[in-house]
Amino acid sequence: MTEQPLLIVISGPSGSGKGTLCELLRKALPNISYSISVTTRPPRINEKDGVDYFFVTEEEFKRMLEKGELLEWAEVYGHYYGTPRFAVENALRSGKDVLLEIDIQGALKIKEIFPDALLIFIKPPSIEELSKRIAKRGTEDVETIGRRLNCAYRELQAADMYDYVVQNDRKERAFMELLEIINKEKSARN
Ligand code: 5GP
Repeated sequence: MTEQPLLIVISGPSGSGKGTLCELLRKALPNISYSISVTTRPPRINEKDGVDYFFVTEEEFKRMLEKGELLEWAEVYGHYYGTPRFAVENALRSGKDVLLEIDIQGALKIKEIFPDALLIFIKPPSIEELSKRIAKRGTEDVETIGRRLNCAYRELQAADMYDYVVQNDRKERAFMELLEIINKEKSARN
């Protein structure tokens, strides 16, 4: 019998460390298909087109939306972000697990389309720690940091809507917990 692929959705406030945890997951699970989102946000200094995101203009984003090329999309911090439909559907069809790192609006939309999707919320240890992490990253200006922190307060309330909440107190511990959840859910579904 072929294994049922798992669609894993990871969300969490900016600075929760979800990006690092997703990177660790991708290394530990090399067969997983990571969905590269489309965004109208300008690239950060160390980001590459087609690796971190597909960076597009607003016109291009709207064109993709109109053509039904996005599975879900959301406006986050004043920019548009979306999940390319084809890559995700194709990977699932070929039996591959898929990892999406998207915001809460997107995660809930995905759960509507794929009720079996596994939604995991990454929680920072505290708002103080979150604020330190975003500032330390040094990629955002003060106004953007403030906006992201405000958003984080609201986002933390949404954690209840997820299947699991993982507290990222220590990266290694949180990563082990993530792996355990994924393995448990995979065996429960097959
Ligand atoms: P950042 O600008 O820090 O890379 O991402 C900002 C937020 O947008 C994060 O919460 C990230 O998870 C979310 N995001 C990234 N790609 C997508 C996407 O394709 N769809 C949705 N809904 N959110 C996304």
